[in-house]
Amino acid sequence: MADMNSIFNSINFCLLEDRLETYKKWQFGNDAPCSASKMAEAGFYQPNPLGEPGLVKCFICLKELDGWEINDDPWKEHESHQSSCLFIKKKKTENELTLEELLFMLQGSILQSLEKTHAEQKENLTNNFEEVLKTLEKKWKKKK
Ligand SMILES: [Zn+2]
Repeated sequence: MADMNSIFNSINFCLLEDRLETYKKWQFGNDAPCSASKMAEAGFYQPNPLGEPGLVKCFICLKELDGWEINDDPWKEHESHQSSCLFIKKKKTENELTLEELLFMLQGSILQSLEKTHAEQKENLTNNFEEVLKTLEKKWKKKK
């Protein structure tokens, strides 16, 4: 589940240069289809480059992907694993994006996460409430 800390942390990787900086020891070189700069262009940064050097994360949809192969196309992989990602739907490089578009995507991803968290909490509450009601009902019936 995407918590709010994770969402706000991803805002630090809005800019291509900040994403690229996380690739300390990327497994493939600059000529590879799956190079660090192509990964960063496709929205991915490395959340834990030393502990999990093969793992990347999208700064908009927060999808984590690993198991990369040298000829993988980062945009295609991103799209096939998370077609609902707002960054993927726009499919623009940083040079093509406007600040408004970037902010709109960020806002959208935060709203999506909030809605998801809210739905999960609501479901938990509903389940717990049913238990409380059953217990109360038993006690109530005993009394009468
Ligand atoms: Zn994404």
